Amino acid sequence: MTTVEAPASHLRENPYEIAKQQLRKVAQTFAIDDNLVNVLQECKKAVVVSVPVSMDDGATRVFEGYRVTHNIARGPSKGGIRYHVDVTLDEVKALAMWMTWKCALSGIPFGGAKGGIVCSPKQMSEGELQRMTRRFTSEIINEIGPERDIPAPDVGTDGRVMAWIFDTYSMNKGHSVLGVVTGKPLTIGGSLGREEATARGALYCVREAVRKKQMSLAGTRVAVQGFGNVGSYLARFLTEDGATVVAVSDSTSGLHNSNGVDVAAAIAHKRETGTLEGFRGADAISNDDLLLLECDVLAPCALEQVITEDNASQVKAKIIVEGANGPVTPMADDILEDKGCLVLPDILANAGGVVVSYFEWVQGLQEYFWKEAEVNAKLNDIVTRAFNETWAVQRVAEPTTTRGIYP
Ligand code: NAD
Repeated sequence: MTTVEAPASHLRENPYEIAKQQLRKVAQTFAIDDNLVNVLQECKKAVVVSVPVSMDDGATRVFEGYRVTHNIARGPSKGGIRYHVDVTLDEVKALAMWMTWKCALSGIPFGGAKGGIVCSPKQMSEGELQRMTRRFTSEIINEIGPERDIPAPDVGTDGRVMAWIFDTYSMNKGHSVLGVVTGKPLTIGGSLGREEATARGALYCVREAVRKKQMSLAGTRVAVQGFGNVGSYLARFLTEDGATVVAVSDSTSGLHNSNGVDVAAAIAHKRETGTLEGFRGADAISNDDLLLLECDVLAPCALEQVITEDNASQVKAKIIVEGANGPVTPMADDILEDKGCLVLPDILANAGGVVVSYFEWVQGLQEYFWKEAEVNAKLNDIVTRAFNETWAVQRVAEPTTTRGIYP
């Protein structure tokens, strides 16, 4: 008998505790009432469901699924669904709380939610994934809906999964309900620009940050961790803006070329083979080393807690753009701040996805669809405004905390 060691989870700290700690820090800075903080640090609702699935080999496996709503004060809740082997209820709660702040910062009328299923999607067939998704949707059918809670893609899910959720929900209601889910394929009510939106929003933030730092994107050296929806599009957009992408990685391998990785070729390779492994024209680099590379901009676009108190002091980038949710721990944040490294926080840097999800929801409700240029221009307006508001708050908060409260 062989024993296979379970892979270590990417979660070294409890992400929900981190999210609460971040809230308390902000509350202290802005003197927010403790009673309100007590309410805001809890999730309004957390649903845990078991999802039995007939597997291709005839066995029945039961997966655990979650849907969490953090807050609905500003409107229906919104947030992605993650398929990953390390998903935990507390991770989903943290991600739901971050969605609340993200929607508020972007000024869109949603609260925060998130969902997930503990599974290894890459090891499942399309049929197994579809059966799991449809059963999960049935289990949470009373929780979701266009005026209630609207899922979207996250790690391990995509337009195909959203199509199954949309179809299952619509079949149960007896008519097509476009607004129940976003990130849908274009043929069934998706929005132009949604697939690229998270990366595009991150690009707009990097452009603003580079401008504030009086740098230029042309020639800027960038390292991107994670080569899925967010990472691969961000690498492509930054290259198109004149930056040199010196490294990219996915869960199986990392590529490094100080003269620049051919991003378009890497995307084509990943599309063909499903992995970056075997790509020629770059040296191998580990995910750990990628984070410490000599570069101007570092874009962690995979999972949480990759920059921690253990490696933050060795990070050389001048700007970190949090394409992923929660990639920098609070202790690492402090170390980076002391070093003068500018961190563009997730609730700002990756908000492009939920902003265009909002556009998709609006278009679905009106059954009237916009041109891609219109979507991108509106996204740019929202992200740039949110960036400048955050920048202004930082300009006021820093001296306020430094001076302290008189007397
Ligand atoms: P995805 O599944 O499309 O891609 C994830 C990528 O990360 C893959 O390339 C995978 O190989 C890689 N990866 C996984 N584990 C890794 C590891 N340990 N080291 C290095 N790479 C690893 O997911 P995505 O939609 O691109 O999401 C990535 C991050 O962005 C997540 O934190 C997600 O919550 C966040 N995010 C996504 C969206 C969206 O619209 N998709 C919006 C906002 C935030």
